[in-house]
Amino acid sequence: MIPLDEIHRVVRGRIALNELLGPYTWMKVGGPADCYIEPADRKDLLDLVSVLVAQRVPYLLLGRGSNMLVSDDGFRGVVISLESALTSVRRDHGDVIAEAGVRLTKFVDFCVQQGLAGVEMLAGIPGSVGGGIVMNAGAHGGEIADHCAAVEVLEGGVPVWLPKEECGFRYRHSAFEGRVVLSGRFQLPSGDVETLIRRRKELIQKRNATQPLELPNLGSMFKNPQGAFAARLIEEAGLKGKKIGGIQVSEKHANFMVNLGNGTAQDVVQLINLVQRTVYQHSGLQLELEVKLIGFKTTARAA
Ligand SMILES: Cc1cc2nc3c(=O)[nH]c(=O)nc-3n(C[C@H](O)[C@H](O)[C@H](O)COP(=O)(O)OP(=O)(O)OC[C@H]3O[C@@H](n4cnc5c(N)ncnc54)[C@H](O)[C@@H]3O)c2cc1C
Repeated sequence: MIPLDEIHRVVRGRIALNELLGPYTWMKVGGPADCYIEPADRKDLLDLVSVLVAQRVPYLLLGRGSNMLVSDDGFRGVVISLESALTSVRRDHGDVIAEAGVRLTKFVDFCVQQGLAGVEMLAGIPGSVGGGIVMNAGAHGGEIADHCAAVEVLEGGVPVWLPKEECGFRYRHSAFEGRVVLSGRFQLPSGDVETLIRRRKELIQKRNATQPLELPNLGSMFKNPQGAFAARLIEEAGLKGKKIGGIQVSEKHANFMVNLGNGTAQDVVQLINLVQRTVYQHSGLQLELEVKLIGFKTTARAA
C-alpha cells in the first residue's frame, strides 16, 4: 500500500499514480510504476525516503533511465525521479561537488569550462551524476571513480559522506545499488580549456559515428569480459542484426540493442537470453549484463 496521504503531506513535487515508465527510459519500453514522484528539492527527497522506509514501501531511484530496462509489468512501489531535485554543480575549496540529479553532460561542461580535466571522457554519456556513480560509468579507458574523492549517500535517513575507499568502485560497479546517492565530490587536475573542449568534441563525434543513436537503446547491454570485447563476441557469434519482436541487435554496434519502434521489455529479455546462450556456445564466455533489470519476476541470467 502506498501511504499517499503521508506522501502528499511531505512532498511538494510532482506525484503521479500508475505512471508509465517507458517514456522515462532510453529504451522506451516498460509498464507503470504504482507511484512516480519528482521531489522538488533535497528536503522533499529526504522526507519522502523517510516515509517510504518507515512504511516499508519498495522504492527505486531513477536518474536519466539510460541504463535500466523496466519490465512490461512496471514497478510495484514508488519510483523517485531526480529530474527536479539535486541539480546543482559547484566549486568547493578547489573540488567540484555535483549533485546526483545533474546530467553528466552538464557536469562535464562545468568542469571543462573551469579548466578541470579528467572527466571529459564522460561527454556524451546520457546519464546523471547519481546513475554514473552507481554504475561507475566510464569510457575511453577512464571512469567516474578515477577522480571521485567521496560520495554523499543516505544512511539511516541521514546524509553521510563516504570516502572513495568505502565506495566499492569496480568496472561498472559500486556499493550504491539500492541506496540513495545524493552527490559526489571530485578532485580534478587542471587542464587547458581549449584542449579539453577539443577532446570533448572529438569524443562526442566518435560516439555519433559508432553508436546507433538514432534509435532508442540502453548503450552497452553487456560488460566486457576480462580481456575481450562483448561487441566483438556478439558479432563473431553471427548475431549482428538479429531481431526478436521489435528489438534488434544493432547493425552499427553489436553490444547495443535498439528498439525499432514497437519493441517490448519481453522482446529485450528474450534477445538478451539468446545472445548470452549463443555467445557462450560460440566462445565459452558468459556475458554479464551491464543494464539493470527493473520489475522482473523471472529475469534474464545476469551472469
Ligand atoms: C546511448 C548511450 C550511451 C551510453 N554510453 C555509456 C558509456 O560510454 N559508458 C558507460 O559507462 N555507460 C554508458 N551508457 C549507460 C548509462 O548512460 C550509464 O550507466 C549512466 O551512468 C546511467 O545513468 P542514469 O542516470 O541514466 O541511471 P539510471 O538508468 O536512471 O539508473 C541506473 C541504476 O542506478 C540507480 N540510480 C540512479 N540514480 C541513483 C541515485 N541517485 N541513487 C541511487 N541509485 C541511483 C538506478 O536505480 C539503477 O539501478 C550509455 C547509455 C546510452 C543510452
